[in-house]
Amino acid sequence: MTRNAEVARVLKEIGLLLEIEGKDKFKPRAYYRGMRSIASLGEDIESVAKRDTLTDIPGIGKGLSEVIKSYLETGEVELLTKLRTRVPVKVLELDSIPGVGPKTIRLVYEKLGVTDLGTLEKAANGGKLSGLPGLGEKTQVQIIEGIQVVRAGLERTLLADAISAAERIENDLRKLKVVKQLITAGSTRRRRETIGDLDFLVDATEPETVMDAFVNSEGVATIIAHGPTKSSIRLESGLQVDLRVLPSDSFGAGLQYFTGSVDHNVRLRSIAQKMGLRLNEYGLYKDKKKVAGEDEEGIYKALGLQWVPPELREDTGEIEAAQNGNLPELVTMNDIRGDLHSHTDQSDGKNTIEEMLDAAQALGYQYYCVSDHTQSLTIANGMDEDRLLKRIEEIDELNASGRWKMKILKGAEVDILADGGLDIEDEVLSQLDVVTGSIHSRMKDKKETMTERVCHAMENKNIHLLGHPTGRLIGKRSEFEIDLERVFETARKHNVIMELNAHPQRLDLNAGNLRAAIKMGLKIAINTDAHRISELDNMRFGIFQARRGWLTPDDIINTCPLKKLMKSIKK
Ligand SMILES: [Zn+2]
Ligand SMILES: [Zn+2]
Repeated sequence: MTRNAEVARVLKEIGLLLEIEGKDKFKPRAYYRGMRSIASLGEDIESVAKRDTLTDIPGIGKGLSEVIKSYLETGEVELLTKLRTRVPVKVLELDSIPGVGPKTIRLVYEKLGVTDLGTLEKAANGGKLSGLPGLGEKTQVQIIEGIQVVRAGLERTLLADAISAAERIENDLRKLKVVKQLITAGSTRRRRETIGDLDFLVDATEPETVMDAFVNSEGVATIIAHGPTKSSIRLESGLQVDLRVLPSDSFGAGLQYFTGSVDHNVRLRSIAQKMGLRLNEYGLYKDKKKVAGEDEEGIYKALGLQWVPPELREDTGEIEAAQNGNLPELVTMNDIRGDLHSHTDQSDGKNTIEEMLDAAQALGYQYYCVSDHTQSLTIANGMDEDRLLKRIEEIDELNASGRWKMKILKGAEVDILADGGLDIEDEVLSQLDVVTGSIHSRMKDKKETMTERVCHAMENKNIHLLGHPTGRLIGKRSEFEIDLERVFETARKHNVIMELNAHPQRLDLNAGNLRAAIKMGLKIAINTDAHRISELDNMRFGIFQARRGWLTPDDIINTCPLKKLMKSIKK
């Protein structure tokens, strides 16, 4: 589906450039409409183009379909090339800053000659924005903050994007018969939220064949280095990928070394030293004799440690636990029995309830909760009491139909209002199986206000889960200011479960907060918050994050069979 995203970006860039040029008021809107249509298209755009049915897509007329065809066939669009010369502004980069839209971009370009993130930052830091018509001191501060968030996100790649790039290259390389072992090491293997570079390690009978195939991978923008034992490429997305050849008898040592983290490895080397051993990327040595190195397990064992799962290798207590033989039995995908937070086209989801249920059933779930937005979230077409009551009836019927073996749970993602109230009457909420309370508004509330709001909401006897508790979007929006310790205390008192939202951009709670939550005796629900079928697969990113937070199946509510789940969420 990646080409859909590419095409959507192209349409967006054209729309933005047209709007900034300001010659035509209506054309930009047509491009934005087309962009949204392609971004939410349930089918591969290339297949649609091949069938020559692009104009069947809502919002795609003849003009846009020509643009799309040209891009898919040649990678270029004449109109875009011309626009970029006429308006030399990095519009997509600027538009990604929270609080900055086409109007602001046009203004700062015309008045201050701002063309990209760097020049905007300079202007903002120099206090030049607040003098412009319609832009105050407050907006200027917001823009400076927004730039920082974007910068942090630009330097690193989201784990999910890194993994999909890694898997594409890996799958191709694995087809080569000369490859014996191939693995992605580094922070990707440790499942960090964001990734700097990708590091592949390979053990192969003919390394040069692998290197040649690697530098010729699809999507390579530049070949940085092409050698017999190490090569580096940069993908079109900007991500750098390194491939190293390791000898078979050192593969485990290399894997351990290149997986990191640096802090974890420093501790291992010092343990080795105290035992009169020496550890490096080739193996573990006693004088000149190699005592381990072929596999990782052998190295940890020789150092008197349990093998440490990569997600824990951050030197935050895992070494001591491995020495004492009490590392946690981390949760895996196989432990998950259902998903408690998902959307349909009743609110802002893309698929019908039946489509979502079919897809969830295919994952082998025992239960699945449909939890659309409620009325305050008007932009998401949230449901009011009447619609929710109809939904309840509908789900009763779907359950009775026997079409799905799993239990369909009646849910809602209710908005937590400014005063901590919920936006649906208790009378209706009490008829639902799972109620998730979430903050979707007034995200800039002061710490005290936000904490009060959330704690007050959790006192409602109908709320079971707190959705995406800190509200962050990695690289886009910082966490709310909120006193999580107080939130956790209140949650424990009122038996509210904390969500680990598995969306790759949320991963909310983060690993440190998860550890703190379970230490306080709270339970966690790992939910996809899927807005379309494909997002049900995000469960794995939730599992990765849960493992980084030291979570075992016992800490997680949706590892329970249905009966136990219903019993334990009861208030
Ligand atoms: Zn939400
Ligand atoms: Zn949601």
